[in-house]
Amino acid sequence: MSDLRIGFVRETARAVLRRNRISKPPVRPEAIARVEGLEVHLVMTWPDDVSGLLLRESRRIGLNGRHARTRQRFSLAHELGHWFLRHDFPWHERTVTIDAPPEQMPEDEHQKLQESEANEFAGELLAPRNMLKQALGQTRDTEELAELFDMSSEALWIRILRHNLLK
Ligand SMILES: [Zn+2]
Repeated sequence: MSDLRIGFVRETARAVLRRNRISKPPVRPEAIARVEGLEVHLVMTWPDDVSGLLLRESRRIGLNGRHARTRQRFSLAHELGHWFLRHDFPWHERTVTIDAPPEQMPEDEHQKLQESEANEFAGELLAPRNMLKQALGQTRDTEELAELFDMSSEALWIRILRHNLLK
């Protein structure tokens, strides 16, 4: 894997939405996690720079319980990205637990690429192109759109710009 597989990543997110019959915002990533049999834990003891953690073998996702709710939603969608894109991780689950997340965030190119893919997946899951396009036909008000998609307006505008939807 040498490039961000942007088309594949977006199509994977859209397939998850289709399978779950989700066609309107706001998308609820916690409902998708439940269908996958993934248990979501809010952890209050993590440092601020740890947002989320997927433990594939035990089907658990940890989220930083002290982060803002919209950020937790994005982090959950990001971890679901690792799950559905079948990313591998450099640590072994015997040494990493919800209570002891890895101390160092990914550094090498392969890992950075996986992080970018998980972010792209998360953005497309929470604000897929077709839903954005439809919403933009109704309003261009940033606050209204952010509320509709239950995202921060910054994260939402990144999606709008990445899809080149402002014409
Ligand atoms: Zn990640």
